[in-house]
Amino acid sequence: MSDLEAFRVETRAWLEANCPPEMREPVRDDDDACWGGRNFKFKNPAQKLWLETMAARGWTVPDWPKAYGGGGLSAEETKILRSEMAKLGCRPPLMSFGIWMLGPALLKFGTEEQKLHYLPQIARGEIRWCQGYSEPGSGSDLVSLQTFGEDKGDHWVVNGQKIWTSYADKADWIFCLVRTDKTNKYQGISFLLFDMTTPGVSTKPILLISGSSPFCETFFDNVKVPKHQIVGELNRGWDVAKYLLGHEREMISGGGLGEGLASLGAAFPDAAANEPVLRAEMAMFDVETIAFRAHSERFMDEWKTGRAHPAYSNLMKYVGTELNKKRHELVMAAGGSDALEWESARSKGGAKPRTWLRTKANSIEGGTSEVMLNVVAKRILDMPGA
Ligand SMILES: Cc1cc2nc3c(=O)[nH]c(=O)nc-3n(C[C@H](O)[C@H](O)[C@H](O)COP(=O)(O)OP(=O)(O)OC[C@H]3O[C@@H](n4cnc5c(N)ncnc54)[C@H](O)[C@@H]3O)c2cc1C
Repeated sequence: MSDLEAFRVETRAWLEANCPPEMREPVRDDDDACWGGRNFKFKNPAQKLWLETMAARGWTVPDWPKAYGGGGLSAEETKILRSEMAKLGCRPPLMSFGIWMLGPALLKFGTEEQKLHYLPQIARGEIRWCQGYSEPGSGSDLVSLQTFGEDKGDHWVVNGQKIWTSYADKADWIFCLVRTDKTNKYQGISFLLFDMTTPGVSTKPILLISGSSPFCETFFDNVKVPKHQIVGELNRGWDVAKYLLGHEREMISGGGLGEGLASLGAAFPDAAANEPVLRAEMAMFDVETIAFRAHSERFMDEWKTGRAHPAYSNLMKYVGTELNKKRHELVMAAGGSDALEWESARSKGGAKPRTWLRTKANSIEGGTSEVMLNVVAKRILDMPGA
C-alpha cells in the first residue's frame, strides 16, 4: 500500500470514529453552520466538539504549516482528506473568512509575528473576520475607494464607510482596505486589520427582501489603528487585496459544486425519467460540472505552485458561479411547485428556494460576472479595448 493509500485508510477510520453523526448532515443555511468567533453560540454540543476535535488535529486548515495551527498536510493529503469528508458527508468544521481569505494573504504577506499571532486563532475559530473592501460607489471599481487613514505617527486615524460588509455585526475583526495616500490611485492603499470593538466602528444591518440581513453598512469615525496592524507594505495594500481576491474567487467558484454532490440525474430520478428536456439539460449540466471540477483541480495545482495565469481565478470564478446558478435553476425545475415551499417543516424552512435565491448573488460577490469577463478578455484572450 502506498503512503497516500495508507493515509486515506487512516483518515477514513479517524473520521468515522470522530465525526459526530449530527455533523454528517448537510449544512442547511448560514445560520446552521459553525462560524466560530467570540460571540458564536454553538447550535449543539456536537458542533462544538467537531470544531475542537478538527482544530486540535490542525484539520480546520489541513494544508497550513503546523506552526500556525495547521495540519501540515501535503496538497495530495489535503485532497484525500476533503474527498473522505465528502464521502462520509462530514460538514466543514468551520466556515471562516479567516480561513478562506485572510489566512492565505497573511501566509504570503504577513510578518512572522503576525502569522504566529493571527493564524492559530483563525485555525481554532476564535476570531470571526469580516471583509471591508466595497464602498458606496466603489464595488467593481474598487480602487476608487475613499476610506482614509491619516498618519499619526504610531497609528492611523481611519474615517469612511464600507458597504455590503457580510456579517460585520457578528464579526470580531475586519480586514480592511484604506487609502493612505491620496495622490496615487493604486499605490496609495494599505491593508489594515482591526478589532470591530475599537471605538468609532459601528455597523448597520441592511435588511433584504427575504427578511434576513447578512450585510451591513460599516462606518469608521476616527478609528485609531496601531501601525503594526498593517499587512504588507505601506501603500502596497492593493497587492495584498488582489491576492486575497484570488482566494475569495476560488472559494466562491467552488462553493456549490463540491465533490460530494450527486449528479442531478441521480438526485432527481423521477424528473430525469419523465421529462426528456429536463433530463437532457441535467445531463449537459453534469458533463459541464465534471469538466469544471477536472479543470479546477488542475488550476488549483498550478496556482499553488505559482504556475497558473494570474487572471485564471477570474475565469474559474465566472464559470463556477454561473454553473452553480444553473444547478439551482435545474433543482427548482425538477422540484416543481413543491420546491418553492418557503416555510413548511417538510421543506426544512424553505432550504431549496432560499439556496436558489442565494446563488443569484454568486455572480456579484467577489466581483461580478461582467467584470470577470472583461478581465478574461483583456488578460487571457489579449483582446484590445476590453
Ligand atoms: C452576497 C454578497 C456578499 C458580499 N460581501 C461583501 C463583503 O463581505 N465585503 C465587501 O467588501 N463586499 C462584499 N460584497 C460586495 C461585492 O464585492 C460587490 O457587490 C461587487 O464587487 C460589485 O460591486 P457593486 O455592488 O458596487 O456593483 P457595481 O460595481 O456598481 O456594478 C453594477 C453593475 O454594473 C456592472 N459593471 C460595473 N463595471 C463594469 C464594467 N467595467 N464593465 C461591464 N459591467 C460593469 C456590474 O457587472 C454590475 O452588473 C458582497 C456582495 C454580495 C452580493
